[in-house]
Amino acid sequence: MRKNIVAGNWKMNNDLSQTEALLTDLMAQTKTSNAEVMVAPTFTNLYRAFETLRNTDIEVVAQNMHFAENGAYTGEISASMLKSVGVNTVILGHSERREYFNETDELLAKKVKTALDHKMRVIFCFGEELADRKAGNEETVVGNQIKNALFQLQAWDFKNIVLAYEPVWAIGTGETASPEQAQDMHAFIRKTLADQYGYDIAERVSILYGGSVKPANAEEIFSKPDVDGGLIGGASLNAEDFFAIVNAF
Ligand code: PGA
Repeated sequence: MRKNIVAGNWKMNNDLSQTEALLTDLMAQTKTSNAEVMVAPTFTNLYRAFETLRNTDIEVVAQNMHFAENGAYTGEISASMLKSVGVNTVILGHSERREYFNETDELLAKKVKTALDHKMRVIFCFGEELADRKAGNEETVVGNQIKNALFQLQAWDFKNIVLAYEPVWAIGTGETASPEQAQDMHAFIRKTLADQYGYDIAERVSILYGGSVKPANAEEIFSKPDVDGGLIGGASLNAEDFFAIVNAF
């Protein structure tokens, strides 16, 4: 009853012509799984990606947005700007935003609210750092990230929330959480939601895993009962690798 989702986070990679080449490669791929597919180009390439993919079932999503409606926020992009170029889903809270751009749970709570007010879907990212896991604090850290940013929401808001658990120590490092570590944390995340909002809501929310997912490990990770898909960085920059992951369901 939950959707399986595989989303490619292209991060700050690919200029316009490289993006066009990757879009062309993506359109040549065949999907054999039931997963919803999304790609997240940089802001400057969103509209081109939307136009190119509009007749496919690949959704174009944004990597970030500001919480304000508009105004004097030099360098920022609003929810309505995203919607005006066909974007209805936004990734929020990626660990790189938290680490390099000082995004806090409190700021993310505002961004989530703005996105939902605009009837956008949110892929909300969170995850512990290596030191947290070494200290055995990973559940406390993850639990707090979810509570601080999302527990302001009403139960019905969760139909537009996708969660993405991304242990910071596994992002771009080649080190993946083991399928068991991912499953344990995803089960904890679902229980955290169930305790607050009830079992029915928790069972409906898709929880993606992110962190060095590649064709070689996707199937095993996706086979876990509480892993409903992946947020893919490095491997999403190659269309064949990305679709091998999409088709791992
Ligand atoms: P990675 O990135 O797949 O390159 O580890 C995942 C992410 O940051 O979403």
